[in-house]
Amino acid sequence: MSFVEDENKYKSFLNKIENENKFTKELNNLFNIMFNDCFKNILNMPKIDFLSKLSKDVTSILIEHYTTKILENENLENFFISVSDKYEKKYDEYYADLSFQWKKYLYQKSRLRKSDNEEKKLENFYFKNFVKHCSKTGEFALHNCKKKNKLSKFISVLKIEKDNNDKSETKYLICENCRKVFFIRTFNNYCEYCKVKYYSTILNNKNKENEFLFLATVYPTHCNLLFNKIILCQKCNKQLYINIKTNQLICVNKKCKFVELNGDNLEWKCNKCETNYMTRAIVYNETEVVHYEDMIEKALILKRLAHPNKTCCISNENISTTEFYHSKKCRGILYSIMQNKTLFLVCEKCRAINFFKNFIWKCPFCGLNYREIYSDENKEKLVLKNKK
Ligand SMILES: [Zn+2]
Ligand SMILES: [Zn+2]
Ligand SMILES: [Zn+2]
Ligand SMILES: [Zn+2]
Ligand SMILES: [Zn+2]
Ligand SMILES: [Zn+2]
Repeated sequence: MSFVEDENKYKSFLNKIENENKFTKELNNLFNIMFNDCFKNILNMPKIDFLSKLSKDVTSILIEHYTTKILENENLENFFISVSDKYEKKYDEYYADLSFQWKKYLYQKSRLRKSDNEEKKLENFYFKNFVKHCSKTGEFALHNCKKKNKLSKFISVLKIEKDNNDKSETKYLICENCRKVFFIRTFNNYCEYCKVKYYSTILNNKNKENEFLFLATVYPTHCNLLFNKIILCQKCNKQLYINIKTNQLICVNKKCKFVELNGDNLEWKCNKCETNYMTRAIVYNETEVVHYEDMIEKALILKRLAHPNKTCCISNENISTTEFYHSKKCRGILYSIMQNKTLFLVCEKCRAINFFKNFIWKCPFCGLNYREIYSDENKEKLVLKNKK
């Protein structure tokens, strides 16, 4: 960054902190995002490390948004103290709850007598009441980490409401093996049959007429799409349901009664390129949508500029500060966000979310289009497409 740019960014920071409420709100947003990022390791990290990581993460984003010079500002520390206090309390509350439940699980497990039935007895701890990926998804929610070559199960943690003891409900899940903690709202689940990670949640509103019926969509997708639309009935155009017990597709419109017998062999028209291809029916999962909405929100607050690894006419030192745009049609700035070791791109203007991989970049200066192709060894190489 040049000296002038640095000064300008520092000035914009000074303007920001002049409005105490506004800056506190900005800081609070950053703390909140970073707290949720660190949260899964709450049982695996000493308190002091957890809280210092949280402060460090927030500081480094502030430096990205403004300049390192903000660290010399005396007021910043006071803002930090007031906001981080709140997150220390939040930490204490969560930790007390979670570590108590984890100890309770270990105690109860130790009391089980070694017998052939041990696996069976442990079943009570494991989380079953979740939204499944497809009709072949197993009985237990699984974390994608292994113990003795078997995928680890989640232990459900009950949160007992203080005023009303009857209203206990699952709030978090802890992986029995790696002790990572997830909020129940959207957690990383794994379908062993499809060998895919997906976002799942607690199954709350069971369909009263048939508990096995769920709105249906398809997997795998075509054209690198993140998710697909709900399948519509060929006869009456109403939304179709999948019966996860029989794997049939069913139209619940009483006048239509369409039934497709096998959900494993479906011809589907890709929403993007409109090619027909063969795919399978799975459960349409609202959680995935909720999850991507959260991610978009997060990317737009963190504002990490997205850029390809190699470019045409932009020098290496300027690439990280160059703004790339979504597409010819949409001039929104692209931000990047990392989730589960996968990089995504979010457009500031139309809020579209894309995979980083295979994205077609357009140079904002010379107009060249290019795509980074990854070979099996994951070495990227620049492929130049049609010149301007
Ligand atoms: Zn599946
Ligand atoms: Zn795990
Ligand atoms: Zn396609
Ligand atoms: Zn129908
Ligand atoms: Zn260029
Ligand atoms: Zn856009």
